[in-house]
Amino acid sequence: MKKLLILVPVIIGVIAGGAFFIDKQIENNFNEPCVITEKPFEYNAEPNTLGSPPDTYLVKVNVETTSLWTSVEVEGLQSVTVASYIPHKESNSDKNVSVDGLTVYELSRPETNEDILPPITAEYDAIVQKYGDIATFKINKEGTGTTIYKLYSVVGNSTKEIARFVHDGIGEDSAKTFILDTNLLSSPLSFPEEKYDGPLFDAHLHLTGQDSQDSPEGIEYTKLLINSDNADEIFTMFDTLGVTGLIGFLPLNHDFFVIREKKWTNPFLKQAMEIGNRYCGRIHPFLFPDSLSGIKSRKYFTTKLIDDYVKKYPIKGIGEIHVDSENPLYKDIRLNDDEMYELYDYAALNNLVVMIHPRESDLDDLHDALRDNPKTKVLLHSDEGVEKIIPLLIREHDNIYYSIDAGLMYPYSLPIDGMTKEEFLNNLHSDEMYHRILASALRYWKPLIEAHPDRIMWGTDALYSWHFDDDVYGEVTWFARDFIGGLSPEIQEKFAYKNADRLMGL
Ligand SMILES: [Zn+2]
Ligand SMILES: [Zn+2]
Repeated sequence: MKKLLILVPVIIGVIAGGAFFIDKQIENNFNEPCVITEKPFEYNAEPNTLGSPPDTYLVKVNVETTSLWTSVEVEGLQSVTVASYIPHKESNSDKNVSVDGLTVYELSRPETNEDILPPITAEYDAIVQKYGDIATFKINKEGTGTTIYKLYSVVGNSTKEIARFVHDGIGEDSAKTFILDTNLLSSPLSFPEEKYDGPLFDAHLHLTGQDSQDSPEGIEYTKLLINSDNADEIFTMFDTLGVTGLIGFLPLNHDFFVIREKKWTNPFLKQAMEIGNRYCGRIHPFLFPDSLSGIKSRKYFTTKLIDDYVKKYPIKGIGEIHVDSENPLYKDIRLNDDEMYELYDYAALNNLVVMIHPRESDLDDLHDALRDNPKTKVLLHSDEGVEKIIPLLIREHDNIYYSIDAGLMYPYSLPIDGMTKEEFLNNLHSDEMYHRILASALRYWKPLIEAHPDRIMWGTDALYSWHFDDDVYGEVTWFARDFIGGLSPEIQEKFAYKNADRLMGL
């Protein structure tokens, strides 16, 4: 027993010494000047096989009902909702809205005993393709009340009503079908003629994640996605696709630090730093303690913890920090907390970017944080319709930047709940669907990017192993190049890589 007591500290000492040795080695590597093997940029990906775009139209949809609920089934037209105009699933205390393009799954309100109900409305843009001369619209509703479904064609800045279907029938079996002459759709949208063929910078990529999405609790960082085994392959792919740099997120799991007394035991970090060193200057690592994604951060585990690494390694930012003031999982952290304010100060002082993923309910907190910390550079991104808060923020605050990643193809983008690799690729391999998504992305994002050309940048939100397969990542960049080709020529490079380069101090 005595022997064991002596042996234990010796063993711990040897293990700690070993870890220290490895740490030191990596540290030394970073102290040596990075040697970048400069090679001329060359974009040489295979062209994809999509044909010329099918006729695609922009329409405005307006549905209004005084019924308890209504829904609309559509045949003869294919459609998608314009990205993020309204959430595909919106629900609040007054109404539930669930739509997909022209189809309305649900427009409803809470049960009530009132006889006369005020109208509830959903209004949004949709991208439409036709495959026949007529389309049918079947309007369903609850027994009483009236549903009015209107369609407007949109050409430039003008709109023209092309359909008004009124269903005011009463009774149990309350479905009514209407016919639309699809030739009323005129002036198809034009698509970019040339792809952008310059460099790309992926401003939102997760360095850790899973093989697939199966954790209801959120992401568990079970795997380093760019690791010693696949790094060469992935960077060869980046070279082929013209991806010159990336912002990569790495978690610090604070449990390790509690248990192992601050020793650097996170295996992801070591390897990620080694790979960062190998591809000198191309990975811009952002760190975040897990405690910033929901568990109340004790001071030590935020600023102090990050400081330990910032002192040693080329950390460029803090994030991705998830907040959601309406979600119990995140209830203990708000963007205007003292801990967060300390972190903003620290970031400004050390020239680090703070990357935040807010929800709509965090808008007020964000305004506070951005207004009170004007020297802190804050990079945001979002999905699930949260983009609608971005125009408000970006107009008001000079210190925010925004990456359009998952939002670009939403809801057909990489990290969508439950989407498999096959489903993802099938959508993009369909000529029709590809152009519907592209038209939707251009309709929503182009005006915002052109209004703020210096602060919005491209990214992918790659999060699972299959996102790094070259057919998948290749498809995402292919789409991005079509999208960027549709922006004004003078801002294409800014969005593609220059704004990110500048934010990273390149
Ligand atoms: Zn996010
Ligand atoms: Zn993310």
